[in-house]
Amino acid sequence: MSERKVRVRYAPSPTGPQHIGGIRTALYNYLFAKKMGGDVILRIEDTDQTRFVPGAEDYIVDSVRWLGFDFDEGVHVGGAYGPYRQSERKGIYRQYADRLIENGHAYYAFDTSEELDAVREQARTAGIASWQYNNITRNSMKNSLTLPESEVQKRLASGDPYTIRIKMPRNEEVKVNDIIRGWVVVNTNQLDDKVLFKSDGMPTYHLANIVDDHLMEITHVIRGEEWLPSAPLHVHLYRCLGWEETMPRFAHCPLLMKPDGKGKLSKRDGDRLGFPVFPLEWTDPKNGEISSGYRESGYFPEAVINILAFLGWNPGTHQELFGMDELIQAFSLERVGKAGSKFDMDKARWYNQHYLRAKSDAELGALMQPLLKAKGHDLTVDYASKVAAQMKERAVFISDLLDGDFFFLAPTVYDAKTVHKKWKDKTPMHMEKLYEALDGIEKWSAENIETRFKALLEQLQTGMGAMLPNFRVLVTGSGMGPSMFAISEILGKEETLLRIRNGIAAIVKLKTEATQT
Ligand code: GLU
Repeated sequence: MSERKVRVRYAPSPTGPQHIGGIRTALYNYLFAKKMGGDVILRIEDTDQTRFVPGAEDYIVDSVRWLGFDFDEGVHVGGAYGPYRQSERKGIYRQYADRLIENGHAYYAFDTSEELDAVREQARTAGIASWQYNNITRNSMKNSLTLPESEVQKRLASGDPYTIRIKMPRNEEVKVNDIIRGWVVVNTNQLDDKVLFKSDGMPTYHLANIVDDHLMEITHVIRGEEWLPSAPLHVHLYRCLGWEETMPRFAHCPLLMKPDGKGKLSKRDGDRLGFPVFPLEWTDPKNGEISSGYRESGYFPEAVINILAFLGWNPGTHQELFGMDELIQAFSLERVGKAGSKFDMDKARWYNQHYLRAKSDAELGALMQPLLKAKGHDLTVDYASKVAAQMKERAVFISDLLDGDFFFLAPTVYDAKTVHKKWKDKTPMHMEKLYEALDGIEKWSAENIETRFKALLEQLQTGMGAMLPNFRVLVTGSGMGPSMFAISEILGKEETLLRIRNGIAAIVKLKTEATQT
């Protein structure tokens, strides 16, 4: 078996947007395949047509492409093992259900859903909370094991609806060798006779999944832990179909837990706790409800890749930041933990901040453009880049680079605390002098502004602490921010001087009004 080319698959059901747990599974499949020189396949498991949600399939492809990886085969790229949508493989599955009936591993069940409901209800009143169709109860149900052969044939011939169920043997051990969890051993007495083929002519997830993994020559099944309880049935099915030799190896990845307590991370948690649970924003086609996405919330794909990789895996070293190629090199299923992993919001922000700082000012300036446009500012990339250079130190998201409103608009409000503490009787005169000094600068640059400013301090026999906060409040309206010399350079001479002039008038007016009341 060791000479088989590694082939793994991500097999979502298109029932809605995949949350980060699903996308993490897709990423682990990708990393493992690439590390092993193999292929990763996208297979759409849409056997339950009632739960189909339009757009869910494209959402997966768009998400992984945004994150910077892709599948080698699948619905959107084709491949030699297609079709890759189970609804298009409908004709394939029946023969395997028939084979299981022929070799005594499955049977026809004619019980109607009303009859099944009645049995469940009876059991509930008798104190059995979850009744199961299993290797004991099947003996009192309507199936090809209990009905006479002639009746079974009659029912089949007359088109009576039926399902096909697995015939779980009594008291046998099923062993699953999981790469992450080790041996999981289950007795068949604990497993029910799951439906393999439905009355609507479609296989269930269990049958379709096993048949497709076999036909697509899948070597490793990497999926979420919620599927671990199904793994013994799957191993049993491989046995019954005679496919044990090429059975894939299993790796069940830990669940993503709520950051604030116990329990699985759910779709609603993100919006409740203030971080996205989905890679991309999603609008529910039924009710128009919007779920926030990492992309729209300003996360960089490189940051999200690191966030996802570390949700359950660690490299065993102190390295915290990985590019995709480094991740492929470092990844192994053996280093995926068993315990559920908690989402760490501070760490997520930390990753984003790192990738923001790693970008050039020009890149940041370009990324700011759509946000600037949305706010109605028509500014060049060059101007935005200069703003980015001043703001990037404290920013986590691109939107933080726009926090300094004063780069885009002249102030209309002046920080009350600064005005109260720093604006003295002499200040208007000092600020007029500042205006004159700056007006005399020929080559407008941060350096020249600073030199002039310092010379003025000497001349006026005053200090930075008295002059700078007032200069700042006039030009920016606020009490804190990046270097005033840099800000003035970016705003330009004309704008800086205009703001000083208008600011003096506005503050003098405020002060006068305040003393009059
Ligand atoms: N269709 C299953 C899901 O929606 C896939 C489980 C598996 O990978 O076997 O998650």
